Amino acid sequence: MLDSDFFHRWMTATAVAVDREAGRLTELDSAIGDADHGSNLRRGFAAVTAVLDEDTPQTPGALLALAGRQLIATVGGASGPLYGTLLRRTGKALGDAAEVTPGQLAEAFGAGVAAVGKLGGAQAGDKTMLDALLPAAQALGESFAAAREAAEAGALATVALRARKGRASYLGERSIGHQDPGATSAALLVAALTEAGA
Ligand code: ADP
Ligand code: MG
Ligand code: MG
Repeated sequence: MLDSDFFHRWMTATAVAVDREAGRLTELDSAIGDADHGSNLRRGFAAVTAVLDEDTPQTPGALLALAGRQLIATVGGASGPLYGTLLRRTGKALGDAAEVTPGQLAEAFGAGVAAVGKLGGAQAGDKTMLDALLPAAQALGESFAAAREAAEAGALATVALRARKGRASYLGERSIGHQDPGATSAALLVAALTEAGA
């Protein structure tokens, strides 16, 4: 069973990974965006861990909802509302249980990913964070490790895609040949599940 401590560890592990990889995320965003993805997410997840460390909600659902609100409040770029919606919607789908099963998390995460698609209007293959999140949501029913592999493969596969959403879409054909920053950070978020442990 996964309790609120597990979800707290997940958010902390994500913040550590984002901090470590911020330079690379910004470098990727400098090729096909405005060079702020690393700094956007570093600020956002630092704020998430700060609020969770101060006052940890006692249910997984409330914890993820708070983390999502904090991202929306602190990240100005497109990724803030999108990741914020992912976590808020996943949290809402978990309800008010004190502990959830990995299967319940997989189902709730699927609802969160669907909400990201609805908010941003992107689909699989549009070269966005969804190209890592959609395969991860599928594989999460199997295991955290499978979800991590699926997210990392999805992020790598964005290199060959042409962007159809977000700033990178302004580049048209010239977006091809670069890995999407948001898909790359989404793989960090999913990989952090394996670090949080079960
Ligand atoms: P901004 O583009 O506003 O500077 P960021 O650099 O923080 O925001 O985030 C860019 C990432 O957001 C992109 O690499 C992409 O993965 C994701 N993104 C942008 N627009 C959308 C969208 N409509 N749907 C899903 N993801 C999107
Ligand atoms: Mg950007
Ligand atoms: Mg920006």
